[in-house]
Amino acid sequence: MLFDTHVHMNARQFIEDRDEVIQRAFDTGVHYMVVVGFDHETIPLAIEIAEQYETIYAAVGWHPVDAIDMKDEDLSWIEELSKHPKVVAIGEMGLDYHWDKSPKDVQKEVFRKQIQLAKKVNMPIIIHNREATEDIIQILQEEDAQEVGGIMHCYNDSVNYVQECLDMNFYISLGGPVTFKNAPLPKEVAVQVPLDRLLIETDAPYLAPHPNRGKRNEPAYVKLVAEKIADLREMPLEELCEQTTKNALKLFKINK
Ligand SMILES: [Zn+2]
Ligand SMILES: [Zn+2]
Repeated sequence: MLFDTHVHMNARQFIEDRDEVIQRAFDTGVHYMVVVGFDHETIPLAIEIAEQYETIYAAVGWHPVDAIDMKDEDLSWIEELSKHPKVVAIGEMGLDYHWDKSPKDVQKEVFRKQIQLAKKVNMPIIIHNREATEDIIQILQEEDAQEVGGIMHCYNDSVNYVQECLDMNFYISLGGPVTFKNAPLPKEVAVQVPLDRLLIETDAPYLAPHPNRGKRNEPAYVKLVAEKIADLREMPLEELCEQTTKNALKLFKINK
């Protein structure tokens, strides 16, 4: 039984065949998933999908790339929606220094406000990080995010930062890049992270794992991520699936 902790089934890439893709995931053993919403369009749809399936949950937050567009009423709206019974986390939020649509100081401000919100509603945080690891760790520390903890989604940096994340009650989630031939960092992380702090995800429709790299990703492929990590850790696949699912259920406070 697998848990894909980060999917965008609410993306336009799935408009035509969403139910088929979800069914394919269930048939592959992906029993649980969290659909992540990050703006006006994707948040309501994430919740709608979670309402349709018993074992699908939603996360609500504001993406750092669009930080410049977030208004105070958007934050109140997210707070209101966080009370929905199928919403299990706040995010994705964080910093993205790859795109420059939103200036860094605006991104940081919006990030801090969402951490404060997550603490107020007592929910874990899902972190999106692109080329901003040190600033993210500093802000999480300053805002005392360890009170709620959360996920470093699609972790893609050096193993040197892992301990600081673990110390703040964060889980490390690995996705498609761990299967890429030219990606040594996530492979090293896959081996080093304690098993009880490891999660798996697809980030579908993005970042499809090998051998589907470059194509549309889908939650069924989280199995390829799990197989690769089990292989790297030299452990039975069933044990890895069981433990990562257990970790996710615990973090999201889902009672089976
Ligand atoms: Zn992301
Ligand atoms: Zn995402």
